[in-house]
Amino acid sequence: MDLFETSARSGDAAPLAPRAAKGLSAAIRNLAGWDRAYPESAISHLGAWIVAGRKGTARGVAVGFPAGKRPRWTSGLKGAQTSAQGATVLLLDGTHETLRALREALPFLQPQPTGKTPSFGFGDRTGMATPGHLLALKGSGFFPNLAQQSIREMTRTQRAPAEVLDAAVFGALQAGHLTGFGADADHLKTLDDVDRCAEAGFVSFTLDAIEKVIDAAPRMNDADLEQAYQKILAEVPAAKGWEKKYSGKTFTFEKKVAVRMEGRAFREAIVKYGRAIPYWVEMGKRVYQKKKDRPCEIEIAVDETGAVTTGAEHVFITRELTERGMIFQGFAPRFVGEFEKGVDYKGERKVLEDSVIEHAVLARAHGGYKISVHSGSDKFSIYPMIAKATQGRFHLKTAGTSWMEAVRVIARKDPSLFREICDTVRGQFAKDRASYHISGDPAKVPAPLTLKDADLERVYVVEDDGRQIMHVTYGSAFTAKDDGGRWLFRDRIFALLAKEEDLYTDCLKKHLSRHVKGLKIRGAKRATVQA
Ligand SMILES: [Zn+2]
Repeated sequence: MDLFETSARSGDAAPLAPRAAKGLSAAIRNLAGWDRAYPESAISHLGAWIVAGRKGTARGVAVGFPAGKRPRWTSGLKGAQTSAQGATVLLLDGTHETLRALREALPFLQPQPTGKTPSFGFGDRTGMATPGHLLALKGSGFFPNLAQQSIREMTRTQRAPAEVLDAAVFGALQAGHLTGFGADADHLKTLDDVDRCAEAGFVSFTLDAIEKVIDAAPRMNDADLEQAYQKILAEVPAAKGWEKKYSGKTFTFEKKVAVRMEGRAFREAIVKYGRAIPYWVEMGKRVYQKKKDRPCEIEIAVDETGAVTTGAEHVFITRELTERGMIFQGFAPRFVGEFEKGVDYKGERKVLEDSVIEHAVLARAHGGYKISVHSGSDKFSIYPMIAKATQGRFHLKTAGTSWMEAVRVIARKDPSLFREICDTVRGQFAKDRASYHISGDPAKVPAPLTLKDADLERVYVVEDDGRQIMHVTYGSAFTAKDDGGRWLFRDRIFALLAKEEDLYTDCLKKHLSRHVKGLKIRGAKRATVQA
């Protein structure tokens, strides 16, 4: 069989036919000594073919082409060269250098901005979740933001931005995903955060100016608010013009949304965000400067502020930023009610709907950016409303699911490892929950040692209290060390996920497909057309 010759087609990237893909991946698995090669990864691209595989947790990539006809795009790839059946095969370790070179050579592995397409953000805390994420979105019309990780998550899991992007690039290759993906550096709070993520290759930048936000403004009494307002006037040069521009005015949009900026509403908005405006602009300028050669996009996030984002605040932030030349593709308000991690929405759904509609109207009136919903996993009861209220112009972020489905796999396949992890992280819960929005109570959850194997998944993955404990303690699970400074669980978790990769992928697909179905963007798009 002249498999190697015939598989190297000359056109742009395309999947190999299923039989050829199966045969080629089996041959490469043997040649490379991998545990597995992924048939769905087998593609042809400009005179060569590519196959991805794994040995244990180590990633591998093979690139083959007819002997003596090395395509120019492969010139940046450095690996052992061997020959088989008349073809030259490069066997590459899936290192940062390899994945970076592949990303530079293959346009479909280069992250892209999400633009105005409805998009779904997938944080991947294990670095192995991408194939399941992509399967969940298949045929949905959503654009995937694969490498979506906040600085907080990277710190807690001790992963650098480049590692997070590498994992997404390899996952896309592994899944044979040729239609593009984004990479979102989430909740960046400093210029240094921007630099690190821009250099790593991220193209979406979620800018969070929380360090400059005066979160207490809505809770101040009138005298304190006035004093804080005077301070902003003294500190922020642009603030002098704000009174004339906004105070006492009512802004009306689409004949149905009236935003009143009188009295306290005006002063609260200025005090809360007055210092954040120039800081956002500074961070935005840094993004444009760092990414001047590549398309990129910005999201403005206030979802981690303490009080619900008002229409007045939205109008003020948006107008001031756009006047200073900032273009952004998404705005993440702090919504009414509780968006706790890993569980359904808690709060008045009608009130939430009114506020989502208001923010969506304001977004349409100011350039048509997307409304971004953070902590979006497991909010099944509000998905249809979000799709409809935003007329399909939204971005949904999830992150913890990648970890929670790993927890499910561990509970099912290695109960004793699960008990060790669970016992350790239960002790860390009080500390780990501090920066998260949750109400889970460990006192209500039986200790893992008292549970039968068959009950671990139900108590710690399905039921809310146990689920929230596991949801926020991922950092402790990944970074716990023994007395000798060795990882307690990290390597064992990765080894188990590599061994049970198909189950992990399947669990992710199953759980996240439910999200995608609820969001029904096709229906939402139709609604836009009718309106
Ligand atoms: Zn957020």
